[in-house]
Amino acid sequence: MKHSLLILFCLCSLSNSIAQSSADHAHERAIHFPDIPGYTTIVSDFHQHTVFSDGSVWPDIRIQEALRDSIDVISLTEHLEYQPHKEDLPHPDRNRAFELAEQFARPYDILVIPGAEITRKMPPGHTNAIFIEDANKLLIEDSLEVFVEANRQGAFVFSNHPNWIAQRRDGVAFLNDFHRLLIDQKLLHGIEVVNDLTFSDEALQIAIDHGLTIMGTSDIHGLVDWQYEIPHGGHRPVTLIFALERTPEALKEALFAGRTVVWFRNTLIGHSEHLLPLINSSLSVSKAAYQGISSVLDVTIYNDSDVEYLLATQDQYNFHDNAGLVTLLPNTTTTFSVKTMDQLRSLELHFEVMNAITAPRVHPSITIPVTIE
Ligand SMILES: [Zn+2]
Ligand SMILES: [Zn+2]
Repeated sequence: MKHSLLILFCLCSLSNSIAQSSADHAHERAIHFPDIPGYTTIVSDFHQHTVFSDGSVWPDIRIQEALRDSIDVISLTEHLEYQPHKEDLPHPDRNRAFELAEQFARPYDILVIPGAEITRKMPPGHTNAIFIEDANKLLIEDSLEVFVEANRQGAFVFSNHPNWIAQRRDGVAFLNDFHRLLIDQKLLHGIEVVNDLTFSDEALQIAIDHGLTIMGTSDIHGLVDWQYEIPHGGHRPVTLIFALERTPEALKEALFAGRTVVWFRNTLIGHSEHLLPLINSSLSVSKAAYQGISSVLDVTIYNDSDVEYLLATQDQYNFHDNAGLVTLLPNTTTTFSVKTMDQLRSLELHFEVMNAITAPRVHPSITIPVTIE
């Protein structure tokens, strides 16, 4: 009796482990998005901390995390003015975190971009400067002069967590006169619409109104795995960059040109000119056939991305297996049934993409052409 119970237990745990491994595959942590016409899609996280400011890890851990998440490019943006570990780590050279990360990254296919976080009261609040030449030269007291120096070094400069409740009690991002001056003088080029676990409609509207590049970052201080519950299928926020090639120069060009989409909690955020090609490149019809002699059409779509798309129909057709809401699972196929009333040779399906936004509460629409077998 004991023996058969043991066998039963073994069989159960075997089937559990098979189920577990396919679940693991569906939630594979390596972040995957397709390229779009004319551009390579680069996955970035340009706001991270280590013990060289107020983070909890040595720079090599940031490289290991990025490798696991299949991030193409990162920057360690240590606070220039906030150094809580300086009793233990005097940190005389503010380029040190970058140098260490760059050394660790050398054997791998990952780019490390030099950066720093200019850490001031609001306004201007906190700001990242990436693609800098020398972080030590950014130790400047005057709040305007530090932006001038970052720009002299050719940096891409973006406003960090403009919705941070420590600096904006209502969580609402808005521009002060000093921000407007920076934008007018072309010293500020982007804004975080997503930071860590927060999203800001107001920051997105600022990006749209002032032509600032839409950014999303982790601003990780501890461990990415814990903060974003990656073992449970979570993901860190990333900025997808549409670059001509996978080089620092091409990335910088794409950032200044504003070719980005942010991926945050399964939501895509960006201008429609970048968002629509990304969605269209993700989705392809792999099969479309009627159920026997009926006019109920089974449509199978392959989703070549990590996004679980939530689509709401905009057509007059009713669906046979759902209420006009379709979920396309990531990195696999999904089949749904449409009642076309007559047997057609082809049709177009129109959907609103509910988990994508091009402006606050504005969802883009897509057209999926379907050719029937
Ligand atoms: Zn900050
Ligand atoms: Zn930060």
